[in-house]
Amino acid sequence: MNDQIKKVCVIGAGTMGAGIAAQVANAGVPVLLLDIVPKEGSNRNAIAEGAIARMLKTDPAPFMSTRAAKLVEAGNIEDHLDRVAECDWVVEAVIERLDIKQGLYAKLEAAKRPGTAVSSNTSTIPLANLVEGRSDAFRRDFLITHFFNPPRYMRLLEIVAGADSDPVVVDKVQAFADVAMGKTVVRAKDTPGFIANRIGTYWIQLGINNAFDLGLTVEEADSVAGKPMGVPKTGIFGLVDLVGVDLMPHLKASLTGTLAQDDPYQAIARDIPLVEKMISEGYTGRKGKGGFYRINREKGKQLEAIDLATGEYRPKAKPRGPVGAASKGDLRALVESKGKLGEYAWALLSGTLAYAAALVPSAADDVVAIDDAMTLGYNWQAGPFAMIDKLGAKYLADRLEAEGRPVPEILRTAGERTFYRIEGGKRQFLGLDGEYHDIVRPEGVLRLADIKLNSKPLLKNASAALWDVGDGVVCLEFTGKMNALDGEVMKLIGKAIPLVAQSYKALVVYNDADSFSAGANLGLAIFAVNIAAWSEIEKLVAGGQMAYKALKYAPFPVVSAPAGLAVGGGCEILLHSDAIQAHAELYTGLVECGVGLIPGWGGNGEMLDRWRNAPGMPNGPMPAVAKVFEMVSTATVSKSAQQAKEMMFLRPEDGITMNRDRLLFDAKQKALSLVEGYKAPEPPTFRLPGESGHVGLNMAAEGFRKRGMATDYDMVVSDSLATVLSGGPFDYVDTVTEADLLTLEREQFMQRVRDKRTMARVEHMLETGKPLRN
Ligand code: NAD
Repeated sequence: MNDQIKKVCVIGAGTMGAGIAAQVANAGVPVLLLDIVPKEGSNRNAIAEGAIARMLKTDPAPFMSTRAAKLVEAGNIEDHLDRVAECDWVVEAVIERLDIKQGLYAKLEAAKRPGTAVSSNTSTIPLANLVEGRSDAFRRDFLITHFFNPPRYMRLLEIVAGADSDPVVVDKVQAFADVAMGKTVVRAKDTPGFIANRIGTYWIQLGINNAFDLGLTVEEADSVAGKPMGVPKTGIFGLVDLVGVDLMPHLKASLTGTLAQDDPYQAIARDIPLVEKMISEGYTGRKGKGGFYRINREKGKQLEAIDLATGEYRPKAKPRGPVGAASKGDLRALVESKGKLGEYAWALLSGTLAYAAALVPSAADDVVAIDDAMTLGYNWQAGPFAMIDKLGAKYLADRLEAEGRPVPEILRTAGERTFYRIEGGKRQFLGLDGEYHDIVRPEGVLRLADIKLNSKPLLKNASAALWDVGDGVVCLEFTGKMNALDGEVMKLIGKAIPLVAQSYKALVVYNDADSFSAGANLGLAIFAVNIAAWSEIEKLVAGGQMAYKALKYAPFPVVSAPAGLAVGGGCEILLHSDAIQAHAELYTGLVECGVGLIPGWGGNGEMLDRWRNAPGMPNGPMPAVAKVFEMVSTATVSKSAQQAKEMMFLRPEDGITMNRDRLLFDAKQKALSLVEGYKAPEPPTFRLPGESGHVGLNMAAEGFRKRGMATDYDMVVSDSLATVLSGGPFDYVDTVTEADLLTLEREQFMQRVRDKRTMARVEHMLETGKPLRN
């Protein structure tokens, strides 16, 4: 952990400044957030205070917890600028005006300590202009840190060091941004738009121009420039609606004003009369009345698209779009498709890829930086060079040449080769020198995908695999769709335990996917119910209970390392681990009630055990039971790992990793730290409130129903849950064992599975992804 930055000041509490301040606070570091003194009103801190208050209501939330919000202190630049002396890093995120930024730096220079880093979040102003007139000492401490919106969720951070920037200062900020704020840092050169927005703006402009020139509809254009290219399905017009149609003229003005006259962007930049008309009439995209697409509320929320030729809205059409291989990521097939769609694909891809290819080394040192910027900043599945590999560097170069267009030098360097290859189990990229070089991961970054390149799984079946991740640690990976859990996963756990016990030290449950696990495979459950294979279902429930308990009582430490979604059975595996090392973006919960079920793989007992041991819990069995009942009956899911801690899915001593790429490494370290003197936990016993508690829980549920928040079937499901949590036939004087609770859980689970209303919920969830409120 970087301990050189203990306090941060963010100046400018607008969209970006406020979001950056929140992410610093999410890292547990105090922040001073300053803005100007408002012209009206007596509260001189009103702007920064207002920004914090707004963020507490924003969805998706900029803050990971209310505790994080308390770390942000509001102030103003007239009364509090001298307090930057308390800070180790000052982030400037004021409006994009050179005079205002320069004026602020002059004041900062007088107020800050030597060595305190100052960075600008500017999108367009060259670093050299920003530091004009400043001392050598100030220039040494200065850099650009270009965050993406929203700062909590966008992983990319472009860092630009100036000619005079002190590498020690830049490294200090980079380490903090990486480890504490969780950003993937890409080093960019001091060129207009840096990397991602330079390529992104070119791509958008080219996409719009060609849609007009080829007479395509917006739907046709987006059907090509979306999934088939491995970019988000918003395509180009949908993306412009999302970021704001009114941003277009600003981006154009800024880039045409700052890029060299012979830059290819200059040749494609054009004013589009329709865009100007849309902006003047308030059609600025999703934040305005609509954009290239809109929802027409006067016509019963009809989805509409704009006709590029007439500027009139009409019902949104479903275009034919690319077909066959061209629709499935085969870029060669896509650009060779017949007709206008193929022409459009070629114009857009060849132009964008050639433009990006020419930016090494002027805007970025190597192809990896360009690809990282586009995958993380624009959510492309593959960056431009990885796309060129799919298309063929030689194919692209030959076709450009045949059309009399310039061929970027790096394409000639590649010749028949690819930009990426795997050699000796290592990922390599092609350098400008024509040689391949290893892709070096920063220290503390470990990817399962890299490990897989030079090893074979220790165990593997259709739904899971076991890998040796070094130093005596193995990794259990789920591999099914959405990492759903089934009997195969349980079987693999069964085989893994003796293997680890005999030959390894510890086990980590981890995978590289966006979602750790969506829980039990519901499709399978429906299939079993349809053929009334009740004993099969009961076997699956009992098998899961056994496998999870076997993990819990295994003679070695088990650490789960979830990221993203970990719900239902995916949450229960966390609850059975000795420790959890979670990614900060963890959405976990026991959501079974939403589909008419209750937790069936030991989650009830584990949650009861956590809550009764929670700090500050009152005595007696009922408080913990009521807490678990409330959370599980409402299928509450955490919106961050910090929140998961408040909900006791994570224990106080469990770890949180901010940077996704560091999760496996951190989990492995945590597992190794538990090895010495490891003893498996003792099975707990419980005192539960019995029938009177059951009645109390049902009364609470009844309150929900009276307020219209619970349906009739919700009452049945929550009664099943209440039966388990209150101890079923046991009373307060009885000792309830873990095995007793598992039996109760299984019985109630089976009752719910057999109910048609549960199956209606499950089917609805599988078809629509949304809960059915029956
Ligand atoms: P914004 O308009 O939302 O916020 C700017 C804030 O600066 C306002 O709260 C304003 O009151 C304040 N301000 C103005 N003059 C000030 C001064 N002298 N001292 C202190 N505060 C002052 O703007 P934004 O979108 O947050 O952009 C801020 C910076 O980040 C700009 O440089 C912009 O180019 C850059 N940027 C924006 C985005 C984005 O998506 N919005 C992305 C990356 C970078």
